[in-house]
Amino acid sequence: MTIKSLKRVYYFGKTMSEGSKDMKELLGGKGANLAEMTAIGLPVPPGFTITTESCAEYNQLDRNLPKRLMQEVRSNMEILERETGKVFGSEDNPLIVSVRSGAAASMPGMMDTVLNLGLTDQSLEGLAKAFGNRRFALDAYRRLINMFGDVVMGVPHEQFEKEFDRIKSQYGAKLDTELDETGLEKLIDAYKSVYQKNTGEEFPQNPYQQLEKSVEAVFSSWNTPRAVRYREINEITGLMGTAVNIQTMVFGNMGEDSGTGVAFTRNPSTGVNKFYGEFLINAQGEDVVAGIRTPKNLDEMSVWRNDIYDQLLETKRILEDHYREMQDIEFTIERGTLYLLQTRTGKRTGVAAVKIAVDMFVEGRITRREALVRIPANDLTQLLLPTFDPKAKRDVLTVGLPASPGATFGMLAFSADEAVERSEKGESVLLVRKDTSPEDVSGMHVAVGILTSTGGMTSHAAVVARGWGKCCVAGAGEIDIDEKNRTISVQGRTFGANDIISLDGTSGEVIAGAVPTQDPELSEEFSAIMEWADEFRRLKVRTNADTPKDAKKARDFGAEGIGLCRTEHMFFEDERITDMRRMILAETEQERRSSLDNLLPHQRSDFIGIFKAMDGLPVTIRLLDPPLHEFLTQEESVQEELAEHLGITIEKVKLRLEQLHESNPMLGHRGCRLSITYPEILEMQVRAITEAAIESKNNGVDASPEIMIPLVGSARELAYLRSKVEKTIEIVKDKMSYQGTLDIAIGTMIEIPRAALTADEIAKHAEFFSFGTNDLTQMTFGFSRDDINTFLPEYIKQEILLCDPFQSLDVSGVGQLLEMGTNKGRSARNKLKIGICGEHGGDPASIEFCHNIDLDYVSCSPFRVPVARLAAAQAAIKKLSFSYD
Ligand code: PEP
Ligand code: MG
Repeated sequence: MTIKSLKRVYYFGKTMSEGSKDMKELLGGKGANLAEMTAIGLPVPPGFTITTESCAEYNQLDRNLPKRLMQEVRSNMEILERETGKVFGSEDNPLIVSVRSGAAASMPGMMDTVLNLGLTDQSLEGLAKAFGNRRFALDAYRRLINMFGDVVMGVPHEQFEKEFDRIKSQYGAKLDTELDETGLEKLIDAYKSVYQKNTGEEFPQNPYQQLEKSVEAVFSSWNTPRAVRYREINEITGLMGTAVNIQTMVFGNMGEDSGTGVAFTRNPSTGVNKFYGEFLINAQGEDVVAGIRTPKNLDEMSVWRNDIYDQLLETKRILEDHYREMQDIEFTIERGTLYLLQTRTGKRTGVAAVKIAVDMFVEGRITRREALVRIPANDLTQLLLPTFDPKAKRDVLTVGLPASPGATFGMLAFSADEAVERSEKGESVLLVRKDTSPEDVSGMHVAVGILTSTGGMTSHAAVVARGWGKCCVAGAGEIDIDEKNRTISVQGRTFGANDIISLDGTSGEVIAGAVPTQDPELSEEFSAIMEWADEFRRLKVRTNADTPKDAKKARDFGAEGIGLCRTEHMFFEDERITDMRRMILAETEQERRSSLDNLLPHQRSDFIGIFKAMDGLPVTIRLLDPPLHEFLTQEESVQEELAEHLGITIEKVKLRLEQLHESNPMLGHRGCRLSITYPEILEMQVRAITEAAIESKNNGVDASPEIMIPLVGSARELAYLRSKVEKTIEIVKDKMSYQGTLDIAIGTMIEIPRAALTADEIAKHAEFFSFGTNDLTQMTFGFSRDDINTFLPEYIKQEILLCDPFQSLDVSGVGQLLEMGTNKGRSARNKLKIGICGEHGGDPASIEFCHNIDLDYVSCSPFRVPVARLAAAQAAIKKLSFSYD
């Protein structure tokens, strides 16, 4: 790292203000904004900022302060003394300062603060005289010894606490504030001995020594393990260090005309343009944070001091005009005078983010582009699903994977049948399973939420739940499920079938009892954001849906077609699963065809419903994909029922199951391999699609099916199956004597690395590609997507992986395959349409990647469609602004 400037200290005050909000890198967020607020005339106590470069120098010099740094600090202290008319360490009206850290990126609570610096035995009396309040001065002094001892010298805080308790009880004081002057004097003596005992030195009576040590402490805190870890987790890199802000202290604890508070310029929960915050009369900043006293709502401030409230409102206007963004501020009132101590961009909920962005555009503060990029796309899900009342208490039992967002509660059902039975009786149940399998689908469907103790973000339960917008927490490994006794145990507590548990699918929290929920209402602002996003985005957004209901929901959310209709989900329902199983158990083609004949009308009517819901929009239907034995069951009772139903022996069922068993089913007999070995399945499905399309067209519905062949790894596989599909389409057309236009595009999923590597060969037989990034991630990493939860948490903890690659596309690895597949595919077929339909299609970072490599569309579950629309617009805007640079 090269140090660019020799100037290490930047002053802010009436005398001069050398920094600005654009100097965050050098002055840290806090320092830059203190300078900016000073420059625009807001009441900021004067001070100065030591640069982040100086922190880098300090570290380069093996933890030694750069030469002449303290000289520069001293000259700035002199300017500060002249401006304030006070002298540092003086026994007469002394200057007291705070020393605070502040990096370019916010690192809340990671580095410490020292307040009341400059107090000594001598200046203490000066402070007492200046404010005419000795008790106050003594209290400030004891706080300094404690903070300086703890933060700068590493004296254990409890040792000060212990002395405080001892002296309070000696003086009969319950509250800290009840200790009188004599008590405080005793306390100061006690604190000094704690300090001396631990450090081997007297508490420094030279204020500059205090200052120097504090600056060093703040610099060192940049590299404490917790700060380093925080930066790693939050991927904060490339920063030089922390700045140090030295600022004149103002005291909110000077009496009934003083106080302190924090405020947001707009409501951070709802976005409503109303000043929002809390304050405490006669208190210091830490009292608000520590929660010892309950602060008052800012609305009540006008009753206390209308003049100050008006000043604050004016400050809000000035700040928002200037920053063009909602601000989060800290302020202090010292004897009736308002001071601002900090301003920064305020954190907010998804609802608030949308409202504030649109309102700020309407108010003329920002452009539509700015409004769009300010909203974290993922936060839109908060607007679409029920949420827990943020004010409600949560008795959190454990945290699993936030597999499908939403907030719900219900009693515990331990099997799909139980879930169905109890929900028919009107009970709200959560389906609790170790993991879910296809036979759980009916239970999953009726349950209000799904909880599993194993399985990852793309496990069956998670994928299905997300598709339905149903809340799901997966992989909650701490939960022990006892199916037999119908109980779950977690953290030493046990819950039975009639106990209520709440699930937060956004945070992964599993909570005891019912947390009240609230329903979303889509606002005008939400619609405005969606409209603007559509104007800016290039990527189309489709949905993954396999029922007319889901298709409709997605269309309502703005989906422009179906990018993936997983046909296997259509076989899970009661009547159909029997035929499906009969087909799987069949030993001859003829038997298989007879079961498929029974399934055909069901498939056809499903497709008719979907085409209707997607009238005029493309519908990509994928042929059967999962290994067949996923449709069978290990449950003895179901096997018996099946044997009886099919008129065969249970032994025969078991034998067939054994024959179908595979060691690695995900790499086994699935996808297009099924169509090669059992072409009659492909024929039935293509027939159902074509018949449904023709029937729909005859009824005035503009059906536009596309047939997608899964798990292709070589061009020959696709060529072989393509001709079968084409032949079947022609046969159906002939049979139905259809004369109209019906162009069914035939394409493939790219989900095996080999397919991406040979995409040019494959493209010769495909009119479209859709990247199945769930399988592509699985096969590129060699991670089983269903078992990742056994090791992923450790990978994340050890930072071997920075995030779950099944959630956010691994750009440097799997991403290369996408890029290569796209380029190679288009090199062979210019107009090849390319999309993505793995779970990544709804993830903003992955969507940005898809935009940048020029895909045509992304496809995601219905509830993520709005997220994808916004993320696609953000990706386009980002790329535009890069090209302007
Ligand atoms: C995929 O593999 O990304 C995909 C969409 O297919 P599935 O999840 O059904 O295997
Ligand atoms: Mg797949």
